[in-house]
Amino acid sequence: MSDVQGRTGLIVGVANKRSLAWAIAQRADAAGAQLVLTYQNERLKENLDELAATLSRPPLLLPCDVSRDEDIAALFDHLSGRSEGLDFLVHGAAFAPREALSAPFTQTSREAFRIALDVSAYSLIALARGAAPLMVTRGGGSIVTLSYLGSDRVFPNYNVMGVAKAALESSVRYLAADLGTQGIRVNTISAGPVKTLAASGISGFSGILQVYRDRAALKRNIDGSDVADTAMFLLGPASRGITGEVLYVDAGYRVMGM
Ligand code: NAP
Repeated sequence: MSDVQGRTGLIVGVANKRSLAWAIAQRADAAGAQLVLTYQNERLKENLDELAATLSRPPLLLPCDVSRDEDIAALFDHLSGRSEGLDFLVHGAAFAPREALSAPFTQTSREAFRIALDVSAYSLIALARGAAPLMVTRGGGSIVTLSYLGSDRVFPNYNVMGVAKAALESSVRYLAADLGTQGIRVNTISAGPVKTLAASGISGFSGILQVYRDRAALKRNIDGSDVADTAMFLLGPASRGITGEVLYVDAGYRVMGM
């Protein structure tokens, strides 16, 4: 029996077929999970409808712009009205204004900083708060978010997103401490670079991919399937003793000295 078979999960951050959250959704669906997927606005729903139709069990699709408290409240109101509860939450939402990912870091505006931290880090806290009571009804749960090594080291043009990822990883530790008493675990996958919509907003991203290929211990880039398999581990009972951690899925880039 698969780790997430028969479990219900909420996945936030599927934009298109390249999204890391979509790789996780496909793997969770194949493993027998029942999914709830969110979209940011009606314009983006059509894309998600098409993707959702390819899953083996029709997922519930609900709107949620994570920068709006009322959207998050409506999402969890809707989910509370169902009997299933929630076993897991995948948080794959991130955003920073484009100019903040190309101009020198010293030019970061107050507004770009606010938006990046709000959408990419605070949203995890708000979603975890909404999900927790639904997880408690299931006797506990697992929350996984997606980060990047730019939280700790400087990468060209990653800029304010690195600051947001540092806040995200710190939030994971505080959430793990808060929610641990309720049997809810919270972990981060720190993924190596993958060409997705969000990544295309970072100037010089192909250069970063090349450096990883050349220097990572495994001498390759990672893809969504690497992330999805690790997510299955963190979402399921095999990782029951792990919380508050950052797990690197980067083909061994981080451990290399040069
Ligand atoms: P992606 O497909 O563009 O996913 C980013 C998601 O964030 C999109 O679904 C986007 O939704 C969503 N989002 C942005 N603003 C939102 C808002 N206000 N409300 C709700 N959703 C919002 O790119 P991805 O690379 O898979 O990113 C997923 C996560 O992985 C991000 O946290 C990213 O930082 C992280 N990550 C990516 C890489 C990489 O190299 N790709 C590496 C490490 C970590 P819309 O498109 O509908 O706005």
